[in-house]
Amino acid sequence: MAKVYYAKDADLKHLEGKTVAVVGYGSQGHAQVQNLRDSGVDVVIGLRKGNSWDRAEKDGFTVQPVAEAVKQADVVQLLMPDEVQANVYQNEVAPHLKAGAALFFSHGFNIHFEQIVPPKDVDVVLIAPKGPGHLVRRVFAEGFGVPALIAVQQDATGKAKDLGLAYAEGIGATRAGVIETSFQEETETDLFGEQSVLCGGVSELVKNGFETLTEAGYQPEIAYFECLHELKLIVDLMYEGGLAGMRYSVSDTAEYGDYMSGHRVVGPASREAMKAVLKEIQDGSFARKWIEENKNGRREFNRIAEAEKNHPIEEVGSKLRKTMAWIDESEKETIKQ
Ligand code: NDP
Ligand code: MG
Ligand code: MG
Repeated sequence: MAKVYYAKDADLKHLEGKTVAVVGYGSQGHAQVQNLRDSGVDVVIGLRKGNSWDRAEKDGFTVQPVAEAVKQADVVQLLMPDEVQANVYQNEVAPHLKAGAALFFSHGFNIHFEQIVPPKDVDVVLIAPKGPGHLVRRVFAEGFGVPALIAVQQDATGKAKDLGLAYAEGIGATRAGVIETSFQEETETDLFGEQSVLCGGVSELVKNGFETLTEAGYQPEIAYFECLHELKLIVDLMYEGGLAGMRYSVSDTAEYGDYMSGHRVVGPASREAMKAVLKEIQDGSFARKWIEENKNGRREFNRIAEAEKNHPIEEVGSKLRKTMAWIDESEKETIKQ
């Protein structure tokens, strides 16, 4: 059974008298730092001049260049995109990190794949909220919390776990539960989940369903509702009651069709492909490819992203969503893995 920590296991006093520098004010950055401030933690934000800097100042924070923020910090939480972290760490964080300080992450990629190798005299801790940044803020403001994972890679001070749990308390995660893991497990399962199921798997399932219906002559609007829009309603049922809860709620015809056809669509071939995807994550070849892609100016990434934006499902979808007033624009930006 996984080890799970709650509020009774965490104490904010481990952050008393300390300064937390959060580097980045994006999805996770704005959420974590606002929650920490509301919890009474002393925070500064490290950034470069630009949009985020202006927004953070407008929200009443002390904002400094990354190097300045790091110099005074006892805890440095890196909340920039994973693919820029190594560079910023090398040039603006490492030279200024205090001995005995703690380096925090919300995803294990750069530590696990050794893009960042911290000195031996700092704590290295993962606090990874299991939800998009905008929910981390909204749920906290409502008095609840988004669960998180905790891992300690390096415990230079002997206090790394206490400090991690205090931080988790500060962002509200201990209200929901903080599960112990390792940087390796968090990184590999996160990459596998987003590639095979959550982002890659679901997107291809939706597109293939949409194309199969439209190629057979059905109206694209019907195909959109059937294969994309309804997905949320089904996933909400799974979220609340598992697969069984979903199957209880749908018609018996749908349930029978599920049992008869699901495994024909996603069957042994998909399982083999999932294993191959997992292997490329575990042996580091996916990470190497992604790091190379960024060094080469993201040519393949940009080409595919452009083509995907022009898929017919996006055209019909954007028209239909305009007619659905209840789909709140602000909700859409929370759908970020
Ligand atoms: P974002 O893409 O939202 O971060 C963007 C922020 O980073 C902006 O404030 C941006 O500032 C800043 N930034 C970018 N480049 C630099 C730079 N060179 N110097 C200083 N600041 C810079 O990141 P996320 O919040 O999505 O991800 C942060 C971390 O959290 C990642 O490790 C990610 O894996 C993890 N995570 C993210 C989740 C999510 O919900 N998005 C969920 C769980 C974990 P500017 O405006 O100047 O560009
Ligand atoms: Mg991820
Ligand atoms: Mg139906």
